[in-house]
Amino acid sequence: MDFLSSIGYLSSANRKDCFLNLMTNHFKIAVLPGDGIGVDVTREALRVLVALEAKLTDVKFTFQEHAVGAAEYLRSGDPLPAATLEACAAADAVLLGAMGLPSVRWPNGKEMTPQIDLREKLDLYAGPRPIKLYHGDDSPLKGYQAGEIDFVIVRENTEGLFSSRLSTHPSEDEARDVLRLTRQGCERVIRFAFELAQKRRRHCTLVDKANVLPSMVFFRSIFDEIAKEFPDVTTERVYVDAMALFLVRKPQAYDVIVTENMFGDILSDLAGGLVGGMGMAPSGDIGEKCAVFQPSHGTAPDIAGKGIANPVAMILSAAMMLDWLGHEQTVIGARRIEDAVQQVFADPLNRTPDMNGKLTTSGITDLIIAAL
Ligand code: ATP
Repeated sequence: MDFLSSIGYLSSANRKDCFLNLMTNHFKIAVLPGDGIGVDVTREALRVLVALEAKLTDVKFTFQEHAVGAAEYLRSGDPLPAATLEACAAADAVLLGAMGLPSVRWPNGKEMTPQIDLREKLDLYAGPRPIKLYHGDDSPLKGYQAGEIDFVIVRENTEGLFSSRLSTHPSEDEARDVLRLTRQGCERVIRFAFELAQKRRRHCTLVDKANVLPSMVFFRSIFDEIAKEFPDVTTERVYVDAMALFLVRKPQAYDVIVTENMFGDILSDLAGGLVGGMGMAPSGDIGEKCAVFQPSHGTAPDIAGKGIANPVAMILSAAMMLDWLGHEQTVIGARRIEDAVQQVFADPLNRTPDMNGKLTTSGITDLIIAAL
């Protein structure tokens, strides 16, 4: 298995529009630490990137930090200020920690979710979430060795059941959420998944609920159409409820999984649990022109600022970003980060408390930096 198939990331070929000048070696990264442990883990990912920059030939990163999230709402009344959005759109890539706090809500009581606003406003339609086991001891499943669980969930990010999130109840007696899918929205995310599968083990699984929901019959019909464009990729169609079972029973059977927004949200937490928890689950939000990289976990206010959050999901998200930037040196950098994580995780004592270890957030990062 080559590097790309192992890391399961993106590579520049997944960008439809090579808007980045790949001759450049200077990348401007917008950094949004956000709230809670977002701040803790972003600090560590930046330390890794700075250490890596010194080891790569001729690559320069400029990091510009921007305020977002619950803290920014309390300060300015807007959790995603227009200036931040513009800076994200203008940057080569965005690194995001986590946003939102249960205690900080809109006047109507809803929790704020600026990370979803960001996906929608920048049209970051594809949400790849690599799930990889780095050591057999870290899985609640018995008998799996490092690398034997290795798949990517591609979550549709801009439509689906989440498209109802800003709607209000039509009456006192009824609540309704609409699952909206468009042909264009389905085509682009399914094509993204097939292109990713071509760089991995060439197997693409559609997860839907086509036995019940007409929207899912539509989704499946588009999957079947697009599949014909990729005769080198084998396909499978699985109902979402069965997938929850199969991911626990035979996670090794999957390579790339493409699914609707809400299904992807739920299955990616389950999948994170197979490889050590949310602290091991990186993610990207990819559009035609912009991309945001962030851990799949939230702000975990219970452990924020205590120095015990697991930064690995954030560090691996930074590796995804480097891979996506697509410069020869950044792709090498992505591989070095993943190799370093692999090396550190070979010793089962090298774990943070969420994985029954004793290392601090900065302690495990120090080991990863040393292994670079
Ligand atoms: P969201 O809805 O924004 O995803 P959430 O409330 O569902 O957030 P998280 O904030 O991701 O959930 O975390 C749930 C719990 O998992 C946390 O309270 C924390 O104990 C644990 N957790 C999550 N991420 C990490 C991490 N990186 N390191 C250690 N523990 C974590």
